[in-house]
Amino acid sequence: MIVVATLLAMLGQPAAARANAAIGTLLPVCIAPAQAGTIADVAAGRLTGDCRTEQTRFGEGDFWAIAPAVPARAAGSEPIDRVRIGSLWQESVSLFVLYADGHLVRIDADQRGISRRIQLGARVEFRLPLRAAAPAKLAWLVEGSANRRGILMGAELLSHDDSAHANLALGAMYALFAGLCIALIVYNLALWGALRHRFQLAYCLMVAMLLAYAGSSSGALAWLWPKIANNDRLRINYVTLAGAAAAALWFVRSFFEPRVFAGIVGKAIDVAIVLLAAAGLAFALGSHWWMREFDLAYTLSFGALLSLVPLVLWRAWRARSDYLWLFAIAWAAPVAMAALRVAHNLNWLDWSIWIDNSTLIAMAAEALLSSLAIAYRIRLLSDERDVALAQEVESRRLSEIDPLTGLLNRRAFLAGAIGRAGRQMLLLVDIDHFKRVNDAIGHDGGDEVLRVFARTLRQAAGDTTLVARLGGEEFALVADCGATLDPHMLIERLRLTRMPFDMRVTASIGLCSGPLATEADWKRLYQGADRALFEAKAQGRDRIRSADMLAAVA
Ligand code: GH3
Ligand code: MG
Ligand code: MG
Repeated sequence: MIVVATLLAMLGQPAAARANAAIGTLLPVCIAPAQAGTIADVAAGRLTGDCRTEQTRFGEGDFWAIAPAVPARAAGSEPIDRVRIGSLWQESVSLFVLYADGHLVRIDADQRGISRRIQLGARVEFRLPLRAAAPAKLAWLVEGSANRRGILMGAELLSHDDSAHANLALGAMYALFAGLCIALIVYNLALWGALRHRFQLAYCLMVAMLLAYAGSSSGALAWLWPKIANNDRLRINYVTLAGAAAAALWFVRSFFEPRVFAGIVGKAIDVAIVLLAAAGLAFALGSHWWMREFDLAYTLSFGALLSLVPLVLWRAWRARSDYLWLFAIAWAAPVAMAALRVAHNLNWLDWSIWIDNSTLIAMAAEALLSSLAIAYRIRLLSDERDVALAQEVESRRLSEIDPLTGLLNRRAFLAGAIGRAGRQMLLLVDIDHFKRVNDAIGHDGGDEVLRVFARTLRQAAGDTTLVARLGGEEFALVADCGATLDPHMLIERLRLTRMPFDMRVTASIGLCSGPLATEADWKRLYQGADRALFEAKAQGRDRIRSADMLAAVA
């Protein structure tokens, strides 16, 4: 349920974000280097800035971002009392509000001031003091801009309700994402308890990192920890996203069969895992001095990660992995989104609301599809278990069968015989002078005689009779006393059976009947039948003797 709800929320999210952008009024801004003039120049219209050049082309430094006109508010609509801008890497931002009556208000925000103003979706919101005169012009003095993505992006005017609405919509989305993450972590940890697959731990780590990334990149972290410097919050974004990517690689590494990662591919992935984790940490430390350089290195390490994807897919295809298609479906969205982000970070692609929200959307889709992938793996495991069970049944069957004749062996015969209800008749059948058979036609010929003899016994005995080869040329049958098994008919069948080389082969039978409920009953019956067999042999073979008759005579 939560999964479906979250998926719907995720699919709806870009629409919500677009609506969010449409709720407020977007303000185009023009850029000028800070040293080009003062706020007096801006106010007087002497400094207007460059409205066309791509912001990233200005490089790092201090800049004016000037919104030359503030659209007039429609009569009767809610007062526009705030302006939002995107959170970017910078030391400080000062907002200058120029009112129609010439009044000027300056609002300064340092690193912590920015954090205090962060709204969900990582938007920095400034309140515009309400005056009788309307704001006519807005300008921001951005100091210490690293300008890797821009200087001042997505400036937007909003009313109080717009702001509350945007926070509520994004809050619901992030809460659903967090719920999905927590559910997936709990579910996979529980499964890990049962199945102990390493990829489940990697998966939990990846989802936990994504959860941390969502908490930090959404701006929610600044609500929990308002004293955090905004650039430090951005550092946490870098570290958690790199951690999630490294964990994703570890997941891939342990999800596929080991044969996929034989040789250089496995090593390349191990290197990429270390590289990504190192790039995140290096950025966190090095960005104090060289933000742009470490940001580029970070972006390139993601590029390296992406370049591994076709390699892994190709190897998985070559190794005929069972999981290839699942992997391809589950990871198509995140891989595509990561590629878009890398392209955007390298300034090959313009910013869009899709790219801005891509990570969470793509990872939500991935997380859901991966849970299907894990379910599929479990199905394969249960298939393996079914095969193992069938093999066990087969090997147990083989362990109960005498390999030469296909009859029951002694162990299986005893297991089946002892405990049969009602009076039972035990027949011990021993081939006469079998040594001579072997002498005459060789051991292999003797084996063939044993096989033919066994087949005859089995056919003559009937379905409810247990027939076994106890060893050598000695056989045993157990049948209900009331059953149709007739020892005389049996011995006659044996006499008439055509043997290899037309040899005449006869057998002697010892018979004893009685209960066969316990081990002790078995011993008694066996001793009786054995004694009777001995009598049959002693009296000239090829005959039946019954222990019951012997007892009567004695
Ligand atoms: P009797 O009439 O007194 O039963 O004489 P016998 O020769 O049948 O009895 P004995 O117990 O002296 O010899 C049994 C022979 O059966 C000895 C052994 O070589 C042979 N034998 C036992 N198992 C096998 C087997 O699996 N294959 C073959 N070909 N011969 C076997
Ligand atoms: Mg014999
Ligand atoms: Mg014998």
